[in-house]
Amino acid sequence: DVVLRLNGISKCYNKGLPNEVQVLHDVDLSVKRGEVVALVAPSGAGKSTLLHIAGLLDTPDSGEVDIAGEAMVGQSNRRRTMVRREEVGFVYQFHHLLPEFSALENIVLPQLANGVPSSQASERAMQLLDSVGIAHRATHRPGALSGGEQQRVAFCRAMANQPKLLLADEPTGNLDPETSDTVFEALLRLVRDTGLSAVIATHNLELAARMDRQVRLDQGTLTDG
Ligand code: ADP
Ligand code: ADP
Repeated sequence: DVVLRLNGISKCYNKGLPNEVQVLHDVDLSVKRGEVVALVAPSGAGKSTLLHIAGLLDTPDSGEVDIAGEAMVGQSNRRRTMVRREEVGFVYQFHHLLPEFSALENIVLPQLANGVPSSQASERAMQLLDSVGIAHRATHRPGALSGGEQQRVAFCRAMANQPKLLLADEPTGNLDPETSDTVFEALLRLVRDTGLSAVIATHNLELAARMDRQVRLDQGTLTDG
């Protein structure tokens, strides 16, 4: 039961130009249901590119991307967008919450976009906020929340539509080490409780060690370890 399968993924920017850069070279990665994989890579190694390809935000030059068993390369943009919305949740280093909406509304809106009735969407948003310990912050706008609270809301938003796959790019990278630790713990618990599959990029080796498996991206090549 493989939720994400990357096979032979290559990606080059500025092909044929002097500044050509081969970011990914024949990358393979399989993530099973419920598996949490740490993606460890130095800055500039191509982890954002890899996560964007896995999350259907970018396309590889060659190789296959399967989400929940469905081949995605060659699909229409419409189908790719639908699969991304229904199956994939993203978390970035910076929360990218909508500043004029409350924490709760930020988690409700993506559900409304997917056709979930509003009362049901609010109920799910409250449950998610509660599960990361910030139900009491539901009506606050992002600007009134701490950095750690903002990231917790971003996790909830990523989970709002019950994706099968979570992709996170340095999800606690902008927090101080102590906050990072507890917020990361909250994310991991949320992922474990929902049985979600995840690829979480981090260069914190202690955090990476808490996941099921680590892969390393270096010089365009992905290796186990
Ligand atoms: P990371 O997330 O590991 O820091 P990225 O995937 O963002 O790495 O980028 C990997 C390399 O590819 C970097 O050298 C970056 O400058 C380059 N790169 C990323 N996106 C583009 C792009 N759209 N056009 C040109 N070069 C890019
Ligand atoms: P991060 O690695 O934290 O995601 P980056 O600054 O590496 O942040 O990249 C942010 C975005 O900019 C990515 O989507 C990447 O594809 C794009 N990007 C990165 N480097 C370049 C570049 N040299 N030219 C064009 N786009 C780039």
